[in-house]
Amino acid sequence: MFPLLEVESLRVRYDGLFGPVAAADGVSFRVEEGETYALVGESGCGKTATALAILRLVEPGRIEGGRVVFDGRDLLRIPEREMRRVRGAEIGMVFQEAAAALNPVLKVGTQVGESLRIHRGLSRRAAMDEAVRLLRLVALPDPDRHARAYPHELSGGMMQRVMLAIALSCSPRLLIADEPTTALDVTIQAQILSLLRRLKRKMGLTVLAITHDLGVVAENADRVGVMYAGRLVEEAPVADLFRDPRHPYTQGLLRSIPGASPPRAGAGGARPRLPTLAGAVPDPASVPPGCRFHPRCPRAFEPCPRIEPPAVEVGPGRRVACFLEGAATAAGEGRS
Ligand code: SF4
Repeated sequence: MFPLLEVESLRVRYDGLFGPVAAADGVSFRVEEGETYALVGESGCGKTATALAILRLVEPGRIEGGRVVFDGRDLLRIPEREMRRVRGAEIGMVFQEAAAALNPVLKVGTQVGESLRIHRGLSRRAAMDEAVRLLRLVALPDPDRHARAYPHELSGGMMQRVMLAIALSCSPRLLIADEPTTALDVTIQAQILSLLRRLKRKMGLTVLAITHDLGVVAENADRVGVMYAGRLVEEAPVADLFRDPRHPYTQGLLRSIPGASPPRAGAGGARPRLPTLAGAVPDPASVPPGCRFHPRCPRAFEPCPRIEPPAVEVGPGRRVACFLEGAATAAGEGRS
């Protein structure tokens, strides 16, 4: 395998009410050809900003630094005309809210066929035929009829299938799926994820999945990057991460999944309580100094509030940004 996508030291800023806000602050990871890489973290950790920056779609924010190398080209430095080709034709994206992403006044088949007309020069008729084939591929019931329907005539799960058909219309090499099942109920969610796995195998896709759901990660990803407050704090093959999480934030996230750890008895020993992560994700406008997780970290010690821990390799394919993992030595600090 070789990396299809390499993101290096990516920095994305938005202008907040009280000054610039760093949504992604030095994010680095690579996605190997054919794998599913999951970026995981709580809302506001910067995972969606990172995904949008890959496609240069961060406005009204801006990309302030880093590299996004896709198939040998730095996407942050190619002309906009070339970038338009990359979007849709080489990298497909499925957005969180299909209802908001689809155009309410255009028929479904027209929207699925649009990329084919732009990127492949198909005629209106040929694009509609291909749209119906794609809708069948994503298992939309009665694709001939639904190609002629408007988005509001479809259910949430059906609209997400349409989004998938649009994203796959030009046979992209990379599919970015940003919380593709968040707005769906559990049964439909399972159907969409199973469909994604089938399509990935069938089309030889590489997938970058953005999610806050560790259940989705466990069942679908090969490798995982855990983000916190705009930084990647841990990276590991999925089995290693679930078996032996190393960063205290990842450990807290995993402990808070129902069934992943023995519940503690509540007051009076009545109802078991699920462990939770104390505190809240910091406001991106005022991230704490040093390790950004230190105000919530049960294991914080002397250097944590002062120095930002660098990411260090802790095993094959494993990186952790925490002073408990030898980064204290790298920073010239000792544990007190
Ligand atoms: Fe906790 Fe310190 Fe590690 Fe940050 S660097 S996660 S505060 S122990």
